[in-house]
Amino acid sequence: MTVVNLLDFDLDGLAAYCEGLGEKRFRAVQLFRWIHQRGARDFEQMTDLAKSLRAKLASQAEVRPLPVLSEHRSSDGTVKWLFDVGAGNAVESVFIPEGDRGTLCVSSQAGCAVGCRFCSTGHQGFSRNLSTGEILAQLWFAEHTLRGEPAHAGADRVITNVVMMGMGEPLQNYSALVPALRVMLDDHGYGLSRRRVTVSTSGVVPMMDRLREDVPVALAVSLHAPLDALRDELVPLNRKYPLHELLGACQRYLEAAPRDFITFEYCMLDGVNDTEAHARALLKLVGAAGPVGRVPCKFNLIPFNPFPASGLLRSSDERVQAFAAVLIEGGLVTTVRKTRGDDIDAACGQLAGEVQDRTRVHERLTRAPVRVVRISSDTPASLGQD
Ligand code: SF4
Repeated sequence: MTVVNLLDFDLDGLAAYCEGLGEKRFRAVQLFRWIHQRGARDFEQMTDLAKSLRAKLASQAEVRPLPVLSEHRSSDGTVKWLFDVGAGNAVESVFIPEGDRGTLCVSSQAGCAVGCRFCSTGHQGFSRNLSTGEILAQLWFAEHTLRGEPAHAGADRVITNVVMMGMGEPLQNYSALVPALRVMLDDHGYGLSRRRVTVSTSGVVPMMDRLREDVPVALAVSLHAPLDALRDELVPLNRKYPLHELLGACQRYLEAAPRDFITFEYCMLDGVNDTEAHARALLKLVGAAGPVGRVPCKFNLIPFNPFPASGLLRSSDERVQAFAAVLIEGGLVTTVRKTRGDDIDAACGQLAGEVQDRTRVHERLTRAPVRVVRISSDTPASLGQD
């Protein structure tokens, strides 16, 4: 008999499963709370469930954690775990503490098929989607492991924010992502508000529209370029969903979003996308004269973490500051991401895990150098030039 992984269910799914065992919904709620709020795996511990139900569960279900291959702790408190997801694949999760906030960066796929040029995961290729249970196992493990440590003694909750920014494009694993998000938001689960759960996407437009309908959590969009010609190079998905379509989806998403702005992530690449002209083109792109009119947004500039296969370099601090100054002067809230966990390769774009590539992304990225798209100050926002 197949053993069911209870981490695969949101509350409605668990209620349906329990109904199949002849149990009422309130039993599913109790079970759900034991698993997610108290971190229990052993059904014998769940003393408010009838003995007969515990016996049934023990014979056909489990709470299946992911085996931990390694754990690294940075001097700044960042913790990175590498989890085994089978068949030679491993994914990473990173916990980033900051004041009274604890953010967990969660992976959604073993590898990624999008193949962004500056992304270490993208260079590894793609193996497979994670299941809902594998996505949630990262949160379940991190929350309940950290809660048991002296640094978090007495805390009701250690992880206050989840960002789907680990390995993978979450919106290309939509059917597993949505139940996982529901468990994060559920008051009987992790009870996080929609503002504190962020899905980061490279711009899978149809799925952005579906997320708006199904679970409109906070949205971060990996933008990285103000022009289609350059974004085609950096984020190949742009060839399918170019900037005007992406920005249109952002506008629509804002109708249901828990925040009144979209966060645009922008990785600063030396000599590629980091000039003041690029910054001015960004202002045009998201401003009233842009392809879809003004898009309320914030910019998060990310200093690139170089890795040899990328052939790219990090912009200098001065370049990043000058770029930020143009955006701020143009009226956009702009932050520069602090690099955290640098000493354990846990910074953005460095999550590599291990991937048995089933695609040719890695090969393609290794063969083709980045084509630099130059831009002059009078270049219209919809055009670039080689
Ligand atoms: S940046 Fe995100 S979408 Fe792009 S390759 Fe990396 S994981 Fe995939």
